[in-house]
Amino acid sequence: MRAIRLNGNQLSFQGEHPPVELDGFIKVDVLTAGICETDMQLRQGYMGFQGTLGHEFVGLATSGRFAGQRVVGEINCACHNCPVCHAGHPRHCPHRTVIGILNHDGAFADSLWVPEANLHAVPDSLSTDEAVFTEPVAAACRILEQVDITAESTVIILGDGRLGNLCAQVLSSTGCAVQVVGKHDWKLRRLRDLNISTVELSDFQPSKSADVVVDCTGSTSGFELALQAVQPCGDVVLKTTVAAEQSLHLAPIVIDEVRVIGSRCGPFAPALQMLADGRVQVKNLISARYPLEEAQNAFSHAEQPDTLKVLFDVADK
Ligand SMILES: [Zn+2]
Ligand SMILES: [Zn+2]
Repeated sequence: MRAIRLNGNQLSFQGEHPPVELDGFIKVDVLTAGICETDMQLRQGYMGFQGTLGHEFVGLATSGRFAGQRVVGEINCACHNCPVCHAGHPRHCPHRTVIGILNHDGAFADSLWVPEANLHAVPDSLSTDEAVFTEPVAAACRILEQVDITAESTVIILGDGRLGNLCAQVLSSTGCAVQVVGKHDWKLRRLRDLNISTVELSDFQPSKSADVVVDCTGSTSGFELALQAVQPCGDVVLKTTVAAEQSLHLAPIVIDEVRVIGSRCGPFAPALQMLADGRVQVKNLISARYPLEEAQNAFSHAEQPDTLKVLFDVADK
């Protein structure tokens, strides 16, 4: 089958990659897959991943209870049998594989193998192009599980890229006041079109006033800015895994008693629901689409600062 493979930091398209069937898992024939920030970091050596990339996908299940249906898949494949899993944290299972990220071939291929428990059917009303955003929308939904955000909360989101945009939409659904700080007027305009308040980074005056600050900048400077924007005893949520090491001044966290919360993968069911009922709009985030054969061009495009989401068209439904 066709597959986009990562070896060291060498990305290559292979037209005849032998499929490795995973016993007990469901074969999913991929329709569409999206390139994520994590894929670009993996290419830089993050996690030392070798194999088929891709963890944001919509496909057709070929067997099991979703046979013939469009599905999306949660990316952490847990053992469901260890103390961490039994404690209710399968996404942190120490024995897990992670689709397209850790010891598990991913979705930039004609097919991938996914545990049935990870699959969710895509509602008929939701297009494949929208459903391919389920994984990043779920990552944004994770914040709602971790931090108490109500209609009275004030939230600042640092970063106007893909994840910043989705976090802003998901958190706005609570009715709270969200302001997005970004560098690109055209990206901020898309948020204003959704009635989300925005400010350019050069005009932003952090004033230790927000209940919650979410760092989606993907840069090492985001965390320091977050500490200047959050109020004492407030929450700073870190959404990006910056591969670079950073040296941090930790005293402000102690002095202001700020809670710093790491936040990664989230629940798919509410994400699908938000996409299906239109609370999260994703169609204008698609910048370009490529066939698998054009892996290099697709990744080069995704790395441009003016790009939001690049999709691979793998098969027609
Ligand atoms: Zn992703
Ligand atoms: Zn486990």
